[in-house]
Amino acid sequence: MGSQAASLVREATDIVQLIEEVTEVTRTSGGAAMALCPFHPDNHTPSLSISGDKGVYNCFGCGERGDALTFVQKHHGVAFPEALRLLATRAGVDLGPQAARRSRAARLDDVRWQAAGFFCGMLRTDGAAGASRAYLRRVHGFGSGDVAGFRVGWAPPDMSAVTRTLREAGVSGRDVAASGVARLGLGAGRVVYPVVSGPARVAGFAAEDSSVV
Ligand SMILES: [Zn+2]
Repeated sequence: MGSQAASLVREATDIVQLIEEVTEVTRTSGGAAMALCPFHPDNHTPSLSISGDKGVYNCFGCGERGDALTFVQKHHGVAFPEALRLLATRAGVDLGPQAARRSRAARLDDVRWQAAGFFCGMLRTDGAAGASRAYLRRVHGFGSGDVAGFRVGWAPPDMSAVTRTLREAGVSGRDVAASGVARLGLGAGRVVYPVVSGPARVAGFAAEDSSVV
C-alpha cells in the first residue's frame, strides 16, 4: 500500500461528505464548505474551512489541517494504514490482496460503521426523523453535536435505502446480509445507537423506540 493507493483513496473520497458525517457542515460555494471544528471546542462560528476541490481542510481556530486521510487518522485515532483501509472501504476502492486478507469480522465491523454513518445522516437531515430528534433532545439532552459525535442514528421505515447505499459503496450483498444491518428494519423509524468496538468499528446496534415517551 504505497502512495498510489493513498492518491486513489483521496481522489475517491468526497472530503466535505466525510467531515459532514461527524460534524455540522455548511456548504458555501464552488465545492467549499465551513464546519464546526471537531478538534477544538467550536460551538459558535464554524472555523474549519473545507475545500472539496482540493480535498483539504484547515481550521482557523486551532490550526488543524490536512486531507481526508489525516482527518480520519486524527478523528478516529488510527494510524495511516488503518485510515487508508477505512477510506478505501468507504469509497469502494480495492486495495488489492492486502485488503482481501482482512478478517471477515473486521470487514463486517466496517460495514456497520458505514451503516451507522448513514443512519446518523438520516437522523440529522430527514424530515421524517424530526420527532426522533426532538425525543433525543428532550429525553437524553442530545444536541446535533452529540448525535454526530456518538454516531447516533435513525433507521428509516424503508430499510432498502441503507442496503442500496452500502452496495453502491462496494459492499457485497453477502456482507450486507451478514452485518445484520438490514435486520434493524424490525425497529425501522427508531433511534439506533452503534455499539462501538474500537476505532471506526461497530459490533452491532441498540435500537430505541422514540415514539412511546
Ligand atoms: Zn479547530
